Amino acid sequence: MNVVRFAPSPTGFVHIGSLRTALYNYLFAKKTGGKYLLRVEDTDQSRLVEGALEGMLNAMAWAGIDHSEGVMIDENQNIYQSGENGPYIQSQRLEIYKTYMKQLIDSGHAYYCFCTKDRLDSLRESQKSEGNTAKYDGHCKSLTKEQVEENLKNNVPHVIRLKLPENYDITFNDIVRGQVTVNTNDIDDQVLMKTDGFPTYHMAVIVDDHLMGVTHVIRGEEWLPSTPKHVYLYQALGWEAPTFVHLPNILNNDRKKLSKRQGDVAVEDFKKKGYLKEALVNYVALLGWSPDDNQEIFTMQELEQAFNLEKVSKSGGVFDVAKLNWMNNQYIKAYDLDQLTELCIPFVVEAGLMAKEEADSKKDWLKLAVDTVRESMDYLMIFPEKIKLLLEDHVGEIEPDAMEFFKLDHMAQLSDALEAKISAADVITEDFVGVMFKEIQKENSIKGKDLFMGTRVLLTGQMHGPDIKKLLTLLGKERLLVRIKESRKNL
Ligand code: GLU
Repeated sequence: MNVVRFAPSPTGFVHIGSLRTALYNYLFAKKTGGKYLLRVEDTDQSRLVEGALEGMLNAMAWAGIDHSEGVMIDENQNIYQSGENGPYIQSQRLEIYKTYMKQLIDSGHAYYCFCTKDRLDSLRESQKSEGNTAKYDGHCKSLTKEQVEENLKNNVPHVIRLKLPENYDITFNDIVRGQVTVNTNDIDDQVLMKTDGFPTYHMAVIVDDHLMGVTHVIRGEEWLPSTPKHVYLYQALGWEAPTFVHLPNILNNDRKKLSKRQGDVAVEDFKKKGYLKEALVNYVALLGWSPDDNQEIFTMQELEQAFNLEKVSKSGGVFDVAKLNWMNNQYIKAYDLDQLTELCIPFVVEAGLMAKEEADSKKDWLKLAVDTVRESMDYLMIFPEKIKLLLEDHVGEIEPDAMEFFKLDHMAQLSDALEAKISAADVITEDFVGVMFKEIQKENSIKGKDLFMGTRVLLTGQMHGPDIKKLLTLLGKERLLVRIKESRKNL
């Protein structure tokens, strides 16, 4: 069975690239009937950020990228773990790493290094000033057993390093990259255990992927340069390496790696703006993977069917907000109206247009409002802006073109006819408005643009806007009458 994992380090916000890595792992597991687990990589204790793990787990749950094993969160925001291969939080696995660290030392694949920070700093400086890339010089590799024991006895601070053979080619296969070969002369003797006794990522990731039965490592391409060391570690420990899949970077429009400086990159940012999770997942799925045909809109189930690693591209996908907006708009237009309205309510409340209770009591009105403007919404945060004018008693600013329109001969008559009919109505519905327009056509001979645009101009001071029947229904009797009276001064 294929086993894949998403292994975040909880160091901050959830980058859109992390969402994609998790998604591809999830989809691969679904497609192949495999298992998808989530492990927390927190060995770099200095980089941990409070709340980041909760944020990560919530983002995944929101997006519907569910794992069946590992670190979980419940409705009360309690973190727990589930599965047979735990613990799934690396800081709780220190004893396990120590066992394998010892195995590496004993077999001569790793060595203690007592070099001080000062020595390493000056080494790096002198290498750099000579134009060489900084690399550990193997100083402690030649310490005798007795020297090492003496130092350990005296508690001299130390790390453990991987002992790479000289001039040795490490080769592995990557599903996206093909065969990759790197010579050990170009690789550093990686630190495997830090002075604080914690393993580095490189040590922990190997031990965990092996013990958790991971068959495919699907992760961002920033880890490609580390992979030769990982492959060597597998060999050193006598284990079989998993299959590697390095996903291309997600790029900005300028083809540089997508970063916070260029705008929104956090899943939370998109959620806050009112991007639908279905749209975001759909969009992200296509950033680095292409389906066999030109299909663009995919449900999660369709992605689970269609996804394959062979179609993951080598070159980075460009994150194009305009394309994401287009896709989100497609989803907004097709979404279940009741559900979409529920999703819009928090934005209405947040914008201060209505209190929550008021919004809940005006569901029908909001539903019609959502339906009226959804066509023109790229994301839900702009909903309040779109409906603001509908909640105001007054006409507001008159467009210059509308001011001209007011001067047309029929407008005074139209204003009187609308006032009479609307005053006589109990409640304004779309049906009522339809009938009213027919009557005005017949009785007053006002038709087409004169009638419809004329009505809009009288009521909103604008030449264009949402569907006229819906517009009148949303404004409602009281506001319509106030606005008709008010606009008389423009005639
Ligand atoms: N903890 C690493 C990260 O946050 C995971 C790398 C890997 O998947 O091996 O990117």
